[in-house]
Amino acid sequence: MHHFTYRDGELFCEDVAVSEIAAQFGTPLYIYSSATLERHYRVLSDAFAGQSCLIAYAMKANSNQAVLATLAKLGSGADVVSGGEMRRALAAGIPASRIVYSGVAKSKPDIQAALKAGIHQFNVESLPELHRLSEIASEGGHTASIAFRINPHVEAGGHANISTGGAEHKFGIAWHEAKSFYAQAADLPGIQIVGVDVHIGSQITDLTPMRLAFEKVVGLVREMRAEGLPISRIDLGGGLGIPYREGETPASPAEYASMIREVLGDLDVELILEPGRMIAGNAGIFVSRVEYIKERDDREFAILDAGMNDLMRPALYQAVHELRPVRMDPARSSRTYDVVGPICESTDRFAKGYSVPELREGELVAFMSAGAYGAVMSNQYNTRPLCAEVLVRGNQSALVRRVPTFEEIIASETVPEWLTS
Ligand SMILES: *Cc1c(COP(=O)(O)O)cnc(C)c1O
Repeated sequence: MHHFTYRDGELFCEDVAVSEIAAQFGTPLYIYSSATLERHYRVLSDAFAGQSCLIAYAMKANSNQAVLATLAKLGSGADVVSGGEMRRALAAGIPASRIVYSGVAKSKPDIQAALKAGIHQFNVESLPELHRLSEIASEGGHTASIAFRINPHVEAGGHANISTGGAEHKFGIAWHEAKSFYAQAADLPGIQIVGVDVHIGSQITDLTPMRLAFEKVVGLVREMRAEGLPISRIDLGGGLGIPYREGETPASPAEYASMIREVLGDLDVELILEPGRMIAGNAGIFVSRVEYIKERDDREFAILDAGMNDLMRPALYQAVHELRPVRMDPARSSRTYDVVGPICESTDRFAKGYSVPELREGELVAFMSAGAYGAVMSNQYNTRPLCAEVLVRGNQSALVRRVPTFEEIIASETVPEWLTS
């Protein structure tokens, strides 16, 4: 569900015409819908009413301050994967008590900062990390609440590059070592064991592998409790998929939630969820202008003013985002295009042989479902400035990331003295 709809053939975000936003702020640009973000958050929070549940939004999906502030107002926490993300979360008003910290390479300064802030939980991914955390915490007089991220040896995810729960993946500790690691953690200073964590992949559309992994985790928690380990929390990660193309029907958030309730059964536990894509994915679109239509050999290329530096998912995961004209003209019939950008790379292609109503030079197109893993991955390759981001709420729109000037981009670099004298 989202709030991008056509009114008299014009694409709107909530009550604002996309073409108006593009005219005001230029293209390419991301547009986010507040109502959609809020709706997705509430679907989950409502489903777990009556159950202790922290929704720690996986902010790597979209960490814009305005998006975070929108979710913070609803009571959202954050799952962060770097010290930088923690600072963003705090700056947007998400309290440290709702922040969990995941990631395989937590640095000493980042750990120190997180301890000082007093975050809710560290999701520990290895023994060396546990020992580093214990050392830093005890030196500073802190106690780190920890969960081990368990690798359940369950493969899932919408693409090989976003599967994380298999034995070959760098994430988490081995399933069979879990109990021994917990026993070691119990004896370490500065460490308080609180939970078990799992996250098996992303864009998961079928609940079966998730259920399998979650059942394993619940089983482990029951065993460890029986052995006297005080496990009070279960963190089930994120990973629920969203529809990217019309006709796709991934498991819904409601089905996901009821599966979790079933798996938890009567287990008395504080639940943590780390949804990313399911909150932000369909809450954003990416808007671009057609620069040229180029015919060559037996192909037609729709060349856009947006490139893989702005939206990387097609190049990185062979993802296809539904492409829609911003103004729908019923008189136009469908044509087939290779939809490409301006970057000097062959991977700078959004879709191959893609069928849409005929496109013309100068008109606007929108990539749907671009709210997650879109703007956050953008970069300035080919010295294309980071594109703008706009947040809409009802009939209001606001620029929430401005485009840097070329002067700013160049000023961040310096030429050494030996070249200038
Ligand atoms: C990426 C990530 C998530 C969010 O995944 P989505 O598929 O966007 O829900 C949650 N937890 C961890 C540890 C992650 O790395």
